[in-house]
Amino acid sequence: MTVFLAPGREKLALNRHPWVFSGAVARLEGTPSPGEVVEVRTSAGAFVASGQFNPTSKIRLRLLEWKEGVAIDEGWYQQRLDEAWALRQPVTAETDAYRVFFSESDGIPGLIADRFGPFLVVQFLTSGADREKQRLTELLARTVPGLEGIWEKSDGDGRRLEGLANSEGLLWGKAPGEIEIRENGNRYLVDPSSQKTGFYTDQRDNRRLVAPWLAGRRVLDAFTFTGGFAVAALAAGARSVTLLDSSADALAQARRNLALGGWKPEEVLEGDAFQLLRDLRKRGDSYGAIVLDPPKLATSREHLEKALRGYKDLNLQALKLIESGGYIATFSCSGLVDFATFREVIAFAAKDSGRRVDVIRQLHQAPCHPIRTSMPEAEYLKGLLLRVV
Ligand code: SAH
Repeated sequence: MTVFLAPGREKLALNRHPWVFSGAVARLEGTPSPGEVVEVRTSAGAFVASGQFNPTSKIRLRLLEWKEGVAIDEGWYQQRLDEAWALRQPVTAETDAYRVFFSESDGIPGLIADRFGPFLVVQFLTSGADREKQRLTELLARTVPGLEGIWEKSDGDGRRLEGLANSEGLLWGKAPGEIEIRENGNRYLVDPSSQKTGFYTDQRDNRRLVAPWLAGRRVLDAFTFTGGFAVAALAAGARSVTLLDSSADALAQARRNLALGGWKPEEVLEGDAFQLLRDLRKRGDSYGAIVLDPPKLATSREHLEKALRGYKDLNLQALKLIESGGYIATFSCSGLVDFATFREVIAFAAKDSGRRVDVIRQLHQAPCHPIRTSMPEAEYLKGLLLRVV
């Protein structure tokens, strides 16, 4: 089966960007079913790539292989898994919680696999990945040594846009209960039935890198989820930690993670951070350090401006709450907001706050979340450690 691209719309695909949008497709030869592998050719008929077709999604094609005549078979998938596994070897020495496979960046669009101790929590987020669920599960079980179980947690907006319903359950081995993992010498409990796969391993290095600046301070961990930064802060000697999140379940888990280390939060604030940061200011509170790790605010290009206003507002509120000489670790996990834009937003917030703000570290997603040079939007997590005078 062959898909021909519209004239003048071939460039991105030829440059190995893995997405082809519906508008770039001119015509089909045959009727591929969702997720089926097709040949992609220019309007003149030259080979571009092999890719998975989805008639429902705006991302009509997910490109897999740019070499002509290479079969997308079990051996091909195994090679992608082997490359991904090799890349994680240095990480396996320091933690048992990391991303084993990161979708397009590792060459199989839609496949996410996070390792937590002896379990994998996996997502199949595209029709192509979903179609190969059984095969990919078996290959993962073969590639990653020491596994006891593989649990599926396929959910989120991405699946809906692909025309897929949510799907959760046991795929292989035994079901994980709550899993205890270690990261940077700290222990955490991971509950795969909570948000996403249960724990954000992309922040592993950043938790370690900012922790020394939180030592001795009264810390506000805004968007704490299960207390990732809060635990790192307390382990590094933070004086106290306030947990803030809109999810009661996440906060309960964060408390339990603190308890693992023998700590208690100074305060737990459940609600909307945009409002709560204002309330804290009205109350006359101030902090020696603040972590701001909001969810993806820019969910589409149409909402980018609004998202940037959101980032600016959050950071301005944090700047109003921070003591002189205090630190803010601020993040954006929106793929649509690049680093330059994020720095600009922070500069605007700093200007409006009237404070002097110095960048002391630039922060990135952990290396178990690689970025293919042909797909810059895979660089989704960016952060700055700021000193506020
Ligand atoms: N810092 C965390 C990850 C944060 S994920 C870690 O290191 O693991 C983003 C979190 O923001 C989620 O826990 C979600 O429940 C929370 N959240 C989403 N919208 C929110 C809002 N408006 N106010 C407060 N919390 C929010």
